[in-house]
Amino acid sequence: MRTPIIAANWKMNKTQKEAKVFLKELIPLISDAECEVALCVPFTGLAVVKRMVKGTKIKVGAQNVHFAEKGAYTGEISADMLKELKVDYVIIGHSERRQYFGETDESVNKKIAACLAKKLRPIVCVGETLEEREGGLTEKVLERQIREGFRGFKSKDFDKIVIAYEPVWAIGTGKNATSEDANATIGYIRQVLRKYLPKSISEKVRIQYGGSMNSGNVKELMSMPEIDGGLIGSASLKAEEFAKIVHYGRA
Ligand code: PEP
Repeated sequence: MRTPIIAANWKMNKTQKEAKVFLKELIPLISDAECEVALCVPFTGLAVVKRMVKGTKIKVGAQNVHFAEKGAYTGEISADMLKELKVDYVIIGHSERRQYFGETDESVNKKIAACLAKKLRPIVCVGETLEEREGGLTEKVLERQIREGFRGFKSKDFDKIVIAYEPVWAIGTGKNATSEDANATIGYIRQVLRKYLPKSISEKVRIQYGGSMNSGNVKELMSMPEIDGGLIGSASLKAEEFAKIVHYGRA
């Protein structure tokens, strides 16, 4: 019922030249993809990646956006600027942004609003740290991130929203959550959505898993009923590896 979405998060990797080499290799490898595929690339790569995927079904995403429309925010990029480049998705609230750049549930909320106002699709990251997990706080943290992050949005806004459950301890560590664990936690996230949304909407929101997903564990993770795709960091940087992951993202 929900089309899986496999999204790459290149983080601060790949120059335009490197992006071109990657895409020349990737495009033919995933021409038969059954899931939705998105590449979330650095701002500097957006135009070239968008140009190269023309004529394919591959979507393009940014990794951040500023919440203001315009103004004195040196170094920032607005939703309008992304829209002009025909960007489809924007990752919001990635744990690295929460950890290193002071992003909060409040800024996440404003950034989602900025995306929705320009018809950009946010991929909203939520997840607990190791400390929170060991302290038995996972559900409390997720509940707060969802309640505060999505505060004020209407049911129809959720047509555009994708959620990525990314346990912080699993990101870039090579230690993925077990498929059972990820499935149960994503099930909990959907349960929280049900508190705020009509069932017809909450059941349609796609919730990805992210955290050391790779070609070796994707099959098992994607066999879980609650997992609607993946947000892939390290394993998205090599075309062949990423293509293998895409092939397990069956509809
Ligand atoms: C990410 O950065 O969103 C991520 C999941 O990274 P990795 O796959 O490297 O753990």
